[in-house]
Amino acid sequence: MQVLGYAVKQAKGMLGPYSFERRQPRDHDIVIDIQYCGICHTDIHQVNDEWGGSTFPMVPGHEITGVVSQVGPRVTKYKIGDKVGVGCFVDSCRKCTSCSKGLEQYCAGMVTTYNGTERDGKTLTQGGYSEKIVVDENYVLKIPANLPLDKTAPLLCAGITLYSPLMHWNAGPGKKIAIIGLGGIGHMGVKIAHALGAEVTVLSHSLKKEEDGKKLGADYFYATSDPKTFEKLKGYFDLIINTVSAEIDWNQYLELLAIDGTMVVVGIPEKQIPVGSFPLVAGRRSIAGSLIGGIKETQEMLDFCGKNNITSEIEIIPIQQVNEAYKRILDSDVRYRFVIDMKSIKQK
Ligand code: NAP
Ligand code: ZN
Ligand code: ZN
Repeated sequence: MQVLGYAVKQAKGMLGPYSFERRQPRDHDIVIDIQYCGICHTDIHQVNDEWGGSTFPMVPGHEITGVVSQVGPRVTKYKIGDKVGVGCFVDSCRKCTSCSKGLEQYCAGMVTTYNGTERDGKTLTQGGYSEKIVVDENYVLKIPANLPLDKTAPLLCAGITLYSPLMHWNAGPGKKIAIIGLGGIGHMGVKIAHALGAEVTVLSHSLKKEEDGKKLGADYFYATSDPKTFEKLKGYFDLIINTVSAEIDWNQYLELLAIDGTMVVVGIPEKQIPVGSFPLVAGRRSIAGSLIGGIKETQEMLDFCGKNNITSEIEIIPIQQVNEAYKRILDSDVRYRFVIDMKSIKQK
């Protein structure tokens, strides 16, 4: 089927209208009419080929919500009219240890929603800045009835990216948690960590977002541009989640961990950041990483957000403004996620 989307034709290019083919639904596929798609900073890294290996033309977008409009003959999990979501991957090998543990995000055969290759080894995947997507039912998420599709779209990447490490490192009452960077993924971390009962501190580069941060659920808010922040908070946190998309000195932040504390890196800057041994050995501290979350955990996160009425703070834009939105994200001028209203794609 022919589908209209927005694509970039080469690295660092501008996004523009692009018509392309999606497969007809196979036995277990469903067709989703996309209503909303969030803009993740990862879209920008990949459009600009900052991590290497980007494929073009590229239709970005992996924070997708919409409604099922067609189902393949053997689909059992969804029916026409269901409210559904698709996150960062649309398939995996289904056989390896990671897949069998529900950790498909760590499967070597994971098929990313866009900027990837289908398991046939040749078809490029294309993402959610488009009218429709065809996805195997096993890689589709159910959206809780009480959550609106626009504000829920960012949960499919930003939500799970913070929920997964918060759960893995046992965020909850009595735990002191810092989130570095109050952007798209960071603001979801503040909401989720607060709902889990942890004490939450935001470490932002200025105090400009302090009022927002506290409304979102932060107990404390500090500017990292102020050297006193690093003196005051030395040895304080059990867990720090670093969401920053740029190169910051991780060593400075490791010093803020208590004994046995962990800093989890989820932001993926373009360049490598050197880490010294002293901040780690002096305090038995750890540095770790975390990538999105598996299908089972993503559904658990959506259900948790449904129960606690957690959604993203968004600014809705027509797709024609996507290039401008990218610029604003790079300027930290978004509160806190742009979401594309896909109805706009038919407009001139
Ligand atoms: P975003 O909305 O642009 O937020 C990033 C935040 O980092 C900004 O709001 C800003 O927060 C802070 N920041 C940006 N530049 C900075 C600088 N030069 N110095 C200090 N702080 C700076 O991006 P996002 O969508 O949340 O994504 C953040 C990163 O996570 C990206 O690298 C993205 O690729 C990555 N990511 C990883 C995963 C995963 O699974 N691991 C999933 C999704 C995204 P303040 O204004 O508060 O300082
Ligand atoms: Zn993302
Ligand atoms: Zn696998």
